[in-house]
Amino acid sequence: MSGKDLAAEMNKEMQVMVDKLRSKGVTPGLAVLLVGEDPASQTYVRNKEKRAKSLGFYSVVERYSEEISEKEILKEIKRFNQDDAIHGILIQLPLPKQIDPKKVLNAVNPKKDVDGFHPVNMGKLLIGEPDKIACTPYGIMKLLENHKIEIAGKTAVVIGRSNIVGKPMAQLLLMNDATVTMAHSKTNHLAEIAKTADILVVAIGKGHLVTKDFIKPGAVVIDVGMNRDANGKLIGDVKADEVAEVAGYLTPVPGGVGPMTITMLLYQTIISAQRTI
Ligand code: NAP
Repeated sequence: MSGKDLAAEMNKEMQVMVDKLRSKGVTPGLAVLLVGEDPASQTYVRNKEKRAKSLGFYSVVERYSEEISEKEILKEIKRFNQDDAIHGILIQLPLPKQIDPKKVLNAVNPKKDVDGFHPVNMGKLLIGEPDKIACTPYGIMKLLENHKIEIAGKTAVVIGRSNIVGKPMAQLLLMNDATVTMAHSKTNHLAEIAKTADILVVAIGKGHLVTKDFIKPGAVVIDVGMNRDANGKLIGDVKADEVAEVAGYLTPVPGGVGPMTITMLLYQTIISAQRTI
């Protein structure tokens, strides 16, 4: 199940949307705030900037020193909240320890929260009235839809309960009428529970933890994990070679969920810009 292919397809649709907006005098604007020198964050931000610019966005990347105070960063967010040229604001995580990530994420105007992390947007998702949705689970839903995977009535297991992946993922599957189980580090009999899943989403952050013993034959397996092995190679949470023999579908790492996450970020920025007309 290739996220790379779907992202390329969606890119074409998004280009049409951006061109239409620009012809009406609105250029989608995305502000990315990056604090410190974390190499992985630098790479993610560069990729986002490249994709945004290639679509014709107004793209702003603000880089701040590792020492910036919480007060200063909150002031910067306020500046972008008030800037009409900016339709989406993204705070690249992780943040240095003097800054409370909750305070920072809560300061973003929910209308510009294209990452979908603001409590208002999380709450809307929980009551079944989603607006901005966390990009990784949203991208996974697009992948399932694109492959015409039936969700209603199916058994889904989500391993991982983070606010940015596991919880919104489970809620989206539930909203689409799956019967959902959430598993985590304290779950007993994890493999047994995973094996009940028609749709298994794995978002743990532990390389190759999920083996073929976790998989119901024919299941749809979504591997969110991004880990480095001993040689520095990017690997998922799923042992892809053996799971591929049992699963009906499997997302690769890289080229699966990752490209969809950036795509949904840009998509939600375009939608925000559309709403200003
Ligand atoms: P996280 O906040 O660290 O959460 C990890 C979750 O996995 C926690 O709920 C934890 O349980 C659970 N867990 C840890 N060890 C476990 C085990 N042995 N058995 C069962 N559950 C276990 O991570 P995250 O932000 O959700 O990210 C998860 C992975 O996805 C990471 O590899 C991350 O890099 C990747 N990711 C990829 C994308 C993408 O676009 N491809 C986007 C976001 C994240 P507890 O709650 O009990 O601690």
